Amino acid sequence: MKLPSNIVNFLKERQANADWHCDQCNSACCNGPGFALFENIEIIYEKYISGTLLRSDYIFEVNLSLSQFIFKYFDRTIINGRLLVFFPKTIATDNSLISIPPYSYWEARNYLFRRQSSNGCIFLNKKQNKNDYTNNYCILHNANHDNDITEKPMDCLFLYCKGVRNVVNPTTTETTYWFSLLDYSFPNSVEKFNKRFPELID
Ligand code: SF4
Ligand code: SF4
Repeated sequence: MKLPSNIVNFLKERQANADWHCDQCNSACCNGPGFALFENIEIIYEKYISGTLLRSDYIFEVNLSLSQFIFKYFDRTIINGRLLVFFPKTIATDNSLISIPPYSYWEARNYLFRRQSSNGCIFLNKKQNKNDYTNNYCILHNANHDNDITEKPMDCLFLYCKGVRNVVNPTTTETTYWFSLLDYSFPNSVEKFNKRFPELID
């Protein structure tokens, strides 16, 4: 499925400023994960079912249904009362999963960045250790993510770097616009999810 053109164009404009690209990076920013949309999760789940969702230091629990998979590996949050998003959990040294507390988007990211016990997003190839940037990468990279909806979580396309591991923090205006763009392009995300999984309504 193609990404809506307004999102493609917005991301292209942002990436034009980047001089360090995520698909060549060791995922230095992935201690505090970006969020997925449900459309991403359906594709991640297909990968899981096909046995190709693999990391070197952790085995994803087998035979989970889609809703069990979501509960196990993501935290759900609703942005601006309208946009349903799913933050990947992070992994600790002992392989336990860490949930993001129900903070705002930036509070949650800051919280995770500060946490010493977090070894990064569950969708890294292996645990990320402080100041060791060797051989980490995202197992959800997809060469087509600039144009198609893929397993790569949508929000992970939003950040970019100017210089090595130098993430340019988006302005509040850019972030607000990004959320609106996603809500406009993927409308009624809460209602659609609730209709699909009525048993999960909080
Ligand atoms: S935003 Fe920067 S640090 Fe994060 S994956 Fe992309 S290039 Fe690497
Ligand atoms: S899904 Fe991939 S890019 Fe996004 S935070 Fe996790 S490891 Fe990083």
